[in-house]
Amino acid sequence: MQNLAGVGVSPGRVIGAVRHMPKPLAAPPAGQRLPEGTSAEEAVATLKAAALGVRDDLKSRAAAATGDAKAVLTATALMAADPMLLKSAAKLVAAGLSAERAIWEAGDTVAAMLQNLGGYMAERSADVLDVRARIVAALRGMPAPGIPSSAEPFILVAEDLAPADTATLDAEHVLGLVTSGGGPQSHTAILARALGLPAVVAAQGAGGLPDGGRVFLDGAAGTVTSSVGEEQVAAARAWQANSAALATFSGTGATADGHEVPLLANVGGAKDAAAAAAAGAQGVGLLRTEFCFLDRDTEPGHEEQVAAYAGVFAAFPGRKVVVRTLDAGADKPLPFLTDATEPNPALGVRGYRTDTTSPGVLQRQLAAIAAAAAGSDAEVWVMAPMISTPAEAADFAGMCAAAGLKTPGVMVEVPSAALTAESILQHVDFASLGTNDLTQYAMAADRQLGPLAALNNPWQPAVLQLVRLTVAGSHAQGGGKPVGVCGEAAADPALAVVLVGLGVSTLSMSPRSLGAVGAALASVTLADARRLAMVALASDTAAGAQAAVRAELPILSELGL
Ligand code: PEP
Ligand code: MG
Repeated sequence: MQNLAGVGVSPGRVIGAVRHMPKPLAAPPAGQRLPEGTSAEEAVATLKAAALGVRDDLKSRAAAATGDAKAVLTATALMAADPMLLKSAAKLVAAGLSAERAIWEAGDTVAAMLQNLGGYMAERSADVLDVRARIVAALRGMPAPGIPSSAEPFILVAEDLAPADTATLDAEHVLGLVTSGGGPQSHTAILARALGLPAVVAAQGAGGLPDGGRVFLDGAAGTVTSSVGEEQVAAARAWQANSAALATFSGTGATADGHEVPLLANVGGAKDAAAAAAAGAQGVGLLRTEFCFLDRDTEPGHEEQVAAYAGVFAAFPGRKVVVRTLDAGADKPLPFLTDATEPNPALGVRGYRTDTTSPGVLQRQLAAIAAAAAGSDAEVWVMAPMISTPAEAADFAGMCAAAGLKTPGVMVEVPSAALTAESILQHVDFASLGTNDLTQYAMAADRQLGPLAALNNPWQPAVLQLVRLTVAGSHAQGGGKPVGVCGEAAADPALAVVLVGLGVSTLSMSPRSLGAVGAALASVTLADARRLAMVALASDTAAGAQAAVRAELPILSELGL
């Protein structure tokens, strides 16, 4: 019997046969030379054609995808035609190596360079290695490496999934995901959540699960076991019976006694917004505008920006849409705003801070948001990411007023903003807690790293206290200024109840989570939620807080969550 413990990153319980990702492509032998009679020019041309073919394939898959999948595929497609990768391969071919061997070695060099840069750049090294394997497969005339096919739906087990693989996961054939690597904010985790696929990451020993063997995967608890008994079968049935219903939401988010908490969606563009509206979101609590322009090397023009924002507003006529200004930097670099050589990008010139290094971009973005808002029926609010001081909040509010935007707000995702929320809220109309960054900065734990997953947990007592303080800052001002949550914490049904108990007024999440959060909220009164918030605050540990709250929310096990 095998029991594995990892980090649960997407809830749901499933039973299925294990299928391992196929072994990676064999490396071309070291020193492999150009075949007799092939010139270096011919080999470079073949290599370029293969690389462009891979790029076009990824691009066309990006065109068919939405949201995170689209962003991941677009970024990987760019990597396939990366001039640095191709130039260093061409040099090696000129020195006599075969095209396959040359791209292989060039991939190693570029990946190692990215790895040395750390943080976001280090994560991109997996993209380079993925692209390299695809190019070699194309040169060999083989199908691209990737997810196995099987007549029966299965549980996919891998060391970590390449972004392009994750982005094309087919939820009909893959029941759940287990990786031995990866972190809570890895591509695998984010996309599994978006697809509603139960997933466990950082499960050491997953590689040893027998191929074809049946396992029970619990994506909330973060466990995988080969001991499948009646209890597991019942849990998986409960999830199966409820998962389709939980994928959408209808009506109004509210507690059992009618305290309304609008359930909003996090979106990255117009396609996402349309899907969110179809899933029953009551509005948009976070439009990540940087997601609209991840593939841009230069600042998007006014008309392009107006069209991107207007497309989102059109999905929510008469509803609230909170637009976040560009949050470039760290895990989301934009070449026209960020410096890729920063030694510590998460603590660098990121989000609102780029206004000091690239003056004008924010002002032009606000003008485009205002123009799109003027032509739409949506109720448009605007907020800045990475605000750290009351003075920054005041400056941002001034810029919004100058652009004609009536409802300025800030993200509270830096601990200093939570601690000074009372002063910050004197300058702006609302705050939105970004618990992903608030957790990484409060705990000094890179949100991308698997080994820090336990610290990077929004149930941590320090994070709950920062949420409490932010709400207290609003109350100190008469409580009139709304404080919402738009980090991943809002998508955890148990934590959502705690957040409401702490006094947050809206919850914004991936649309996939709306049904589960709505059901959890409807199962408690506001007084229950307040009591559960106290239960969570009383615990010394994240795990203790989570377990104590979950124990008092029977709806979760009824729904298989
Ligand atoms: C957050 O930090 O919680 C947040 C919502 O912003 P992002 O995940 O885009 O950094
Ligand atoms: Mg953030």
